[in-house]
Amino acid sequence: MTRPALLSLDEALPQLLAHAKPLSGVQRVSTFEADGRVLAQDVVSALQVPPQDNSSMDGYAVRTADCQTSGALLRVTQRIPAGSHGSPLGQGEAARIFTGAPIPQGADAVVMQEDCEPVDASCVKVLKPMVAGQWIRCAGEDVTRGAKVLALGDRLTPASLGLAASIGLAHLHVAPRPRVALFSTGDELVMPGDVAPEDMADGAIYNSNRFFLRAMLHRLGCEVTDLGIVPDQREATVEALRDAAAGHDLILTSGGVSVGEEDHIKPAVQALGTLNLWQLAIKPGKPFAYGQVNRSDFSAGACHFMGLPGNPVSSFVTFLLLVRPFVLALQGVKNTDMLRTTLSAHFDWPRADKRREFLRVKRNAQGGLDLFANQSSGVLTSAVWGDGVVDNPAGQTIARGDAVEFISFAEWLS
Ligand code: AMP
Ligand code: MG
Repeated sequence: MTRPALLSLDEALPQLLAHAKPLSGVQRVSTFEADGRVLAQDVVSALQVPPQDNSSMDGYAVRTADCQTSGALLRVTQRIPAGSHGSPLGQGEAARIFTGAPIPQGADAVVMQEDCEPVDASCVKVLKPMVAGQWIRCAGEDVTRGAKVLALGDRLTPASLGLAASIGLAHLHVAPRPRVALFSTGDELVMPGDVAPEDMADGAIYNSNRFFLRAMLHRLGCEVTDLGIVPDQREATVEALRDAAAGHDLILTSGGVSVGEEDHIKPAVQALGTLNLWQLAIKPGKPFAYGQVNRSDFSAGACHFMGLPGNPVSSFVTFLLLVRPFVLALQGVKNTDMLRTTLSAHFDWPRADKRREFLRVKRNAQGGLDLFANQSSGVLTSAVWGDGVVDNPAGQTIARGDAVEFISFAEWLS
């Protein structure tokens, strides 16, 4: 049997992403519903924010020319709460003003109420000198009219929804959600809830991949059809793939991508389309497949196929390294690179590996990284205990105190 060539992640990822053309179509969604979605067009502001100069304090709007000496006495001639607007301020006058209220014409500063002493209902003493512009939020200091505040391909966050709302947008145009069919392969797999732990047959294990893969797809904006467990049989696998291709953009599977007798993914995908089986030079990970499954309606094109290894941590890590950027690229996200921070290893890793490793680690109170003791690709506890990975280059050992590259799960999974 010929072994597929070992491919580095840096070679594999661009090859993979070259297939991830953004899905066609645009959806108009309520701004409330747009968190995590990807913009299908630039967002340009039709107005400035704030719309006018306004007070950033509760206090008095004044003319600095009237307050050259401390203890200046001013006549309070108007009251301007937020949501109203005042009238022009004359010489020697002050306006009682509240946070967010527009600065009246003629005023050029606000004195906070803590720096004033009301003399009576219509007179205030200003205790401190001031500079022009003090406690004034300037019109347009957040957004200028005509500015591009969000760009095509941006993934929306709660803050970006607020920014879109601040320029008056109740709806946004976003990329369609990738429709992903998910199935697990493996005759040993049993669903939690179907069989109680005490009734598990010898050789059976619970299907864990299905749970985190589905959750991660949802977090990345995908619409998931969960097709459950497909038996380790060629015909059943072909049938599942053929059915799934019709109404989906991507079929994602776990398990069965090695080249053993019980691994049916390879011949099944090849029977329906094309497949590249990769042996990636990463650990955990290694077997990974990308291909395309033709739809029976040929005019509808082909459906993407991605096959992940069955070992839970391999499945988890290859998802983050390869599926995550792929499904984001389908939505039009341009840069899917992860932020890496350089931190100090508070552990030793004396055995270098031929493959690039993604070691599960946790940040500690000293600002360094602790290593999870068991780095086996079957030990999912490592991914729960850990809050990220060290991206360790091939052939590299780590000594306590070495600077290493850390990628945080919190960001990777967002
Ligand atoms: P495979 O890639 O199918 O050869 O599976 C590799 C290992 O991962 C085997 O020990 C499987 O039992 C295990 N495995 C496969 N699929 C799953 C799954 N969905 N949940 C938990 N373990 C799995
Ligand atoms: Mg299997």
